[in-house]
Amino acid sequence: MKYFSTRNFELRRSAAEAITEGIAPDGGLYLPEQFLPFPMEALAGMSQTEISVAVLSRLFDDFTEAELAEAVAASYDTAFENGDISPLSPVGDAYSMELWHGPTCAFKDVALSLLPRLLTMAAKKCGIADEICILTATSGDTGSAALSGFSGVPGTRIIVFYPDGGVSPAQKKQMVTCDGKNTAVCAVRGNFDDAQTGVKNIFATVTPAGNMRFSSANSINIGRLAPQIAYYFKSYRDLLNAGRISLGDPVNFVVPTGNFGDILAGYFAKQMGLPVGRLVCASNENNVLSDFFASGTYDRRRDFHLTSSPSMDILISSNLERLLCMLCGAEKTAEMMKSLKESGAYTLSEETRAALAKEFWAAWADDEETKAVIRRYYEKHHYLMDPHTAVGFAVYEKWLASDQANEAPTVILSTASPYKFSRTVLAALDLPASEDEFADMERLARETGTAIPAPLAAVARRPVVHTAICEVADMPAYVYGKTEEKEWAR
Ligand SMILES: *Cc1c(COP(=O)(O)O)cnc(C)c1O
Repeated sequence: MKYFSTRNFELRRSAAEAITEGIAPDGGLYLPEQFLPFPMEALAGMSQTEISVAVLSRLFDDFTEAELAEAVAASYDTAFENGDISPLSPVGDAYSMELWHGPTCAFKDVALSLLPRLLTMAAKKCGIADEICILTATSGDTGSAALSGFSGVPGTRIIVFYPDGGVSPAQKKQMVTCDGKNTAVCAVRGNFDDAQTGVKNIFATVTPAGNMRFSSANSINIGRLAPQIAYYFKSYRDLLNAGRISLGDPVNFVVPTGNFGDILAGYFAKQMGLPVGRLVCASNENNVLSDFFASGTYDRRRDFHLTSSPSMDILISSNLERLLCMLCGAEKTAEMMKSLKESGAYTLSEETRAALAKEFWAAWADDEETKAVIRRYYEKHHYLMDPHTAVGFAVYEKWLASDQANEAPTVILSTASPYKFSRTVLAALDLPASEDEFADMERLARETGTAIPAPLAAVARRPVVHTAICEVADMPAYVYGKTEEKEWAR
């Protein structure tokens, strides 16, 4: 199976090449030429690992099933609490798919625990002997999950940029205390979009000094998206086995969205045969996506807001490009991306907008609504959720109240542990917070009778090892300098 660039159908790669490159040389993202059907009739009897392998082997056909099974087992067997990557909790009439029981307590662990293995296997298939240097911009959770995934993996290094002041104290602490010798972390004086644009720019302009090549751990890498498809199938299996649905019944998914990666994985699952009802795209005050779904115009020329759900503070949702390409083809996509770059906006044809509206529904929630949801669900259901998940629940309620709601069961993707955002959660519950994130975690545990996840409790005790900070314009020089160093000092 071949992958092609969203900006040029002629630019084709094998799966292994697409994973190693991360982003296409023309700036496009790699998309598989087809989606092979998942064996739905077997789903009810499949284990989580079997589901993951079945999904991955349909997308990455240059790996054998045995290779993929080994990678999946090595990545997941011990990394997730109770061995379940995505436990489903009934909350009111809906279901919360908790994707935060991994090493850094956010859903990005699911993909980033597996990506290092996919990437080193892919590089081997491509005959690449160079060291692979991962470059990543993060709005908080990608950075810590990627550092956790890549730390100590032979043949790889990783450089993470995060917006200075744009991540939570716990997220920052997770990153700057990562002591892997192959890791570097640098704050950027700018917001997430600045950092992400900076990284894209480095891919286009910097040649590493040593025997090294750059790759990406952002969700622009197809190796990041594929593992996320699996949990959509797994939640469907759980609903089947709980007798909540019969095979073929539709299920809706509400996805707290930033870069459009997680929700796109749901759309890919649908292309592979999962009976997905509606995909509900939930945004915070950076509501460029809900405006886009409503109007057909994507317009990033607006104020950027720092919200209580920082991992969704994004104005350029990179993965939307893949969806556009699937709907309108590469030529139109290239034009739209050019327009986005040059004028900050693009507009879909009315036909495409209407086609999108059948698959997706979108809305947004501000910080006040988000807080109110955290409080209400805690009081009513004794269910504690983080602000990203709360944006999902707030938008779920808006969807239920809209004329687009349907009767199918709905799964809301819960993307982070409430303990990763203790300060916000305490404030939502009208409890006093302190200046110390870890004292806040303890208070949250005391007040709610829930437990601090073990990985977060451990971070509090680790010393800071990364202190670098730079201007956006200096990111290329920082990276080039790092590639000149044979070994990174600690
Ligand atoms: C990254 C992230 C999101 C957004 O996911 P995308 O794939 O970027 O849309 C939502 N919630 C949390 C907690 C995240 O870390």
